[in-house]
Amino acid sequence: MTVAEKKCSVCDVVKSLDEFYKMTKSPDGRGYTCKPCARARARQWNIDNRDRFNENNRKYWNDHAGERNDQKRQRRASDPEFRASDMERKKREYHANREAELERQRKYRARPEFPAEHHARNALWRENNREHHEEGPTPWKFRTTRSTA
Ligand SMILES: [Zn+2]
Repeated sequence: MTVAEKKCSVCDVVKSLDEFYKMTKSPDGRGYTCKPCARARARQWNIDNRDRFNENNRKYWNDHAGERNDQKRQRRASDPEFRASDMERKKREYHANREAELERQRKYRARPEFPAEHHARNALWRENNREHHEEGPTPWKFRTTRSTA
C-alpha cells in the first residue's frame, strides 16, 4: 500500500509525501512533520540551544576561571612532565614570536628605501641632539644601543 499524502503532525495540513523529509525508520519512509515545519523546528532548536549553550558556557568559564588556574598551578607543582611541557610551550611561543619579529625587521631593512630613511633618521637625531655632541663625549644615556645582529 502506498500512501500518496499524509497529515503533518505539527501544522495538521495534509500534504503530498514529497513535502516530508525522508526518514527510513518510518513505515512510509517519510517523517511525521512536513518540510517547512521540520525546518522551522530545527531553526528554533538552534536558536534556543545556542543561547542556552552560550549562557552556560560563559557562566562556567567565569565561575571556574580561578579553579582552572589553581589546577594548572597545582599540576605544574606536582607533575614535572606537565611543568616541562608547559615550559616548552612557552619557550616555543617566545621563539616563534621572536622569529616573527626578526623577520619583520629583516623585511623592513630590506626595503630599497630603507637606507635613505635610516640616513634621514640619523641626521634628524643628530640635529635634535646636537648640543650633546658639541658638549663633548656623548653621555652613556644618549648612546644608541641598536644592535646589528
Ligand atoms: Zn507542517
